[in-house]
This record gives sequence, structure tokens and C-alpha cells, in this order.
Amino acid sequence: MTDCIFCRIVQGQAPARILYQDEDVTAFHDIHPGSPVHILIVPNRHIVGAAQVEPEDEAVLGKLFTVARLVAEEFGVAEWYRLVVNNGRSAGQSVDHLHMHLLGGRRFHWPPG
Ligand code: 5GP
Ligand code: ZN
Repeated sequence: MTDCIFCRIVQGQAPARILYQDEDVTAFHDIHPGSPVHILIVPNRHIVGAAQVEPEDEAVLGKLFTVARLVAEEFGVAEWYRLVVNNGRSAGQSVDHLHMHLLGGRRFHWPPG
């Protein structure tokens, strides 16, 4: 069994509040939400992070944006939201399976902390 928590969620081996899943991507609620809407969208295939993406990942990674739009609409935050991909510990990446954060439901500041 993999020790990657997001692989386990994708494969149904760990609990999560899954909102969307197809053959390429899975979306689920973040366990520690940082905003009223905080959803993670991940490629089903294990990619460590943004620094490890390859050209053959482009179609799947593009789909992260499409699913983000659909989920943002579903949760009523389509007018504004923030999409975040942290890469590396010092940038805030704590799970080494590439994931896009969809944050919505409150105002955001720029630059981020
Ligand atoms: P990162 O810090 O790597 O950009 O984001 C990782 C996110 O995954 C964090 O917001 C954290 O709350 C979330 N997370 C970590 N473990 C789990 C888990 O087991 N289930 C869910 N649903 N979210 C998790
Ligand atoms: Zn993984």
C-alpha cells in the first residue's frame, strides 16, 4: 500500500469528502480549511510536485483548472477565487503529491504571506 495520503484518497483507501472524480483527477475538501471553500484538486497519478511535471502531464494538469471552475461554480464562489500550487517546503508544500488548492468564500490579499 502506498504511503502517499493523496494516492490513498484517490484509490479509496483513505477517507475524504470527495466532490469529483474521473479517470484523471479527483477533488475533495481540505481537512483543515483555510477559507469557507477550500478544495484540493489532484491528478490521480502520483506527481510529487510542480517541479516534477513532464510534457505528458499537460492534459491532466489542464484538467485541474476545468474541474476547479466547475467546483467553484457548484459552491457559488465563481465570481472570485484563488488557485494555489505550493512547490517545496519553504513555499508551503506539505504533501508531496501535486495538488491545486481552490480557495473561496472570503477576500484574499496580495502578495500572500
Ligand atoms: P500544501 O501545504 O501541501 O500545499 O497542502 C496540503 C493540504 O492538504 C493542506 O491544506 C492540508 O490541510 C491538506 N491535507 C493534509 N492531509 C490531508 C488529508 O488526509 N485529507 C485531506 N482532505 N486534506 C489533507
Ligand atoms: Zn500520491
